[in-house]
Amino acid sequence: MAQHFLLSAASRDLCAYDIAGWSEEDAFWFFVEQRWGNRNTQTCPSCGVVDAHYFRSKRLQWRCRHCDRSFSVTSGTPFDSRKMPFRKMMLGISLYLSGAKGKSAIQLAREINVNVKTAFVFIGKLRECLLRNRSVEKLCGQVQIDGGHFGGKPRKKNFRNRPDHAAIANKVEGILNPSIKKQGKKRHYAYSKENVERRKKRRIVMVLREIYPEEKRGARRTIVSIAMSENERDAIELAHRYIDPDAYIWTDENTAYGQLSAWWEHEAVSHSEMFYRPDGVNENQAESYFSRLRRCEYGVVHRITPKYLMDLSNDMAWREDVRRLSEGEKMKELFSKIMKNGLSRWWRGYFQGHHREGEFLML
Ligand SMILES: [Zn+2]
Repeated sequence: MAQHFLLSAASRDLCAYDIAGWSEEDAFWFFVEQRWGNRNTQTCPSCGVVDAHYFRSKRLQWRCRHCDRSFSVTSGTPFDSRKMPFRKMMLGISLYLSGAKGKSAIQLAREINVNVKTAFVFIGKLRECLLRNRSVEKLCGQVQIDGGHFGGKPRKKNFRNRPDHAAIANKVEGILNPSIKKQGKKRHYAYSKENVERRKKRRIVMVLREIYPEEKRGARRTIVSIAMSENERDAIELAHRYIDPDAYIWTDENTAYGQLSAWWEHEAVSHSEMFYRPDGVNENQAESYFSRLRRCEYGVVHRITPKYLMDLSNDMAWREDVRRLSEGEKMKELFSKIMKNGLSRWWRGYFQGHHREGEFLML
């Protein structure tokens, strides 16, 4: 049997180990090649002229031959005015993209020896590049849709092996004096005051996945969005925005998807009975995405808040979509997004208190 690509040496063409052996200069020239495609000509970010501008090798900067302004390889990118060395950034990016279940800021901070806040902003910028440059071309062929609940999980009451004296006293009193009215049924823990508050942070991650036409290849492209609930209006809106009219849709039996049949060929699998209909209808690829995102939540980041849920969900969607690429190809794919992102809109000035406001719903 042929070896799986991800087990082969070819998939490990640019690993953290390789980058650890690079010099600062090697890392710098890697950035240069990712930005301008070669080492000899650069595009001036101020006037846009492509030329072999004057290189000031000590400062690793260029001076434009036409407008005289200085620029560096990170000018006008999310890493503008960087303080981190290129090599450290390369290592950070490599460690960030090598895992299938995401990366937490605190772990990256330990791995590349930076402050946790620095790592948080660094990862935030990478996620921004992925989100702002994601492909929203319409999904074709077979498309699976589903919604998963994330965040705001109710917690069980912390029962200790401690006798509840008040309850025992009430019970004894009830036995001694049956005229006392029995107390009403206790509220379920999910509806306690704390849990009602907690549940306000719950969101639905809606996932739309285009499936490979060939069998057993899984999903090809993934688009995610965040909704307040799994409802018909939002499902229809997302489907119109992201799904080609000629596609056919597979969902579960949730009522939110019932009306899709009005516009698309639509099949539903009833999860209470089976996961896979005898005729093949299923939504296993949508479930597969949630499985990864859930493991990222439980096993890597540990905490999901509505504010950055979209960033994280899209991060995981991207990881799914590039899962068959080698490390070097993933690196180039991420760099292409970094270089066309422009300055960071959401993370610039974070340390000065400029935090992004609000959350992304139905993006
Ligand atoms: Zn210029």
